[in-house]
Amino acid sequence: MTATTTTGLSVGIKQRLIQQALERRRSEAGDTAGGATLEQAQQAALKVPEAFYRFDQHPGYQQLRVIQQSAARLGLANPFFRMHEGTAGAETCIGSREYVNFASYNYLGYSGHPMVAEAAKAAIDRYGTSVSASRPVSGDRPLHRELERELASLYEVDDAVVFVSGHATNVTTIGYLFGPRDLVLHDELIHNSVLQGIQLSGARRLSFAHNDWQALDRILGEQRQHFERVLVVVEGIYSMDGDYPDLPRFVELKHKHKTFLMVDEAHSLGVMGATGKGIREHFGLAGDDVDIWMGTLSKTLASCGGYIAGNTALVEHLKFLAPGFLYSVGMPPSVTAAALAALQCLAHDRERVQAVQARGELFLRLAKEAGLDTATSTGLAVIPVITGSSFKAGRLSSALFDRGINAQPILYPAVPEHAARLRFFVSCEHTEAQITRTVAIVAEEMARIG
Ligand code: PMP
Repeated sequence: MTATTTTGLSVGIKQRLIQQALERRRSEAGDTAGGATLEQAQQAALKVPEAFYRFDQHPGYQQLRVIQQSAARLGLANPFFRMHEGTAGAETCIGSREYVNFASYNYLGYSGHPMVAEAAKAAIDRYGTSVSASRPVSGDRPLHRELERELASLYEVDDAVVFVSGHATNVTTIGYLFGPRDLVLHDELIHNSVLQGIQLSGARRLSFAHNDWQALDRILGEQRQHFERVLVVVEGIYSMDGDYPDLPRFVELKHKHKTFLMVDEAHSLGVMGATGKGIREHFGLAGDDVDIWMGTLSKTLASCGGYIAGNTALVEHLKFLAPGFLYSVGMPPSVTAAALAALQCLAHDRERVQAVQARGELFLRLAKEAGLDTATSTGLAVIPVITGSSFKAGRLSSALFDRGINAQPILYPAVPEHAARLRFFVSCEHTEAQITRTVAIVAEEMARIG
């Protein structure tokens, strides 16, 4: 058992606090040789508020508890961390009951696809379950290079590099490439991983109104000359709203103001463009119109991880110097093989791409006809239904769940309170009947909630 003091602190913790207080006092007094007596330091340590050394008093945890308690008071079941008992596709099994599922990014149904599953299993048999160190150290497997080559060829650029997490891809790429003399400009709805990367980089951060390239042009006109490198970051399809930027305008601005342009294709790969090659195909752009093509392997590609595709200087550079690649384990063989197999399926699966686009359009059209507020969604796989309050979003999600439909609420602070919503991810495997029934139930339950 750990020894405790009369204040309930373990002796070890107390000694560390005393030591920290002593050091703080010394540095405040500019005194490295020691100026405070041990007794003074002990007194100072005992005055440290509990909130500074207890996680249950952390502001984030306290906020979470308030949300959980008010949800419990209102009788709302927790919609998060639901336990799925099999592959979550257009349908899923939760607690032995079948649901129509709109809460996964399995847009083209490749998670659970026999070819993808077989490729992952074969990779384990051949290469084991881990590459056991970072790739510079433990070396590549042919699967890594094959996946990177296929990604580069999809974008018609020199090369690509894959990372073990999509989120970490943005954090480490932006965090490494940019610094305090630089500016990063991003759409106001950009994903958290981009914001984290900017914070890590120390670059100045400015946002522009959603999809407003004219606002971006104005900001660049005023700000460009004050910085060395400038990066503009947008998404292919916005994950909360299901709309997309007028990318050719952003390409023009990149040339006009001499900036870098980065596009996060997490949700657009497999969903946009006639053959699912993403926003580049949709607009008929060249690979080098964008400097940094970023995407995730966790959505259409039914795996886990992220990628950066671009010119040789960018990719080689990241492979040798981006901390999230250099100091992190290489992608496991099974995970790499699954993404590669999904990418190879995508190359021949026009029907799935057409189906996800058609089902999304159907959902959007029916929702609009039913008078639901779908904000700016274009019907490309991501369709929000705005409820106007977190409470209503929670109620609606729970009512749908009772009727066999799994759709997640997005609550404040993930979005502003008035923009709280349910978010539907449509897959090529949803049937027209499932979509028609779902929209009818959503409209009915929304009317009931009021
Ligand atoms: N970018 C965007 C736009 C995302 O929506 C997400 C997560 N959904 C990520 C990056 C992070 O990807 P991952 O979940 O694969 O880490």
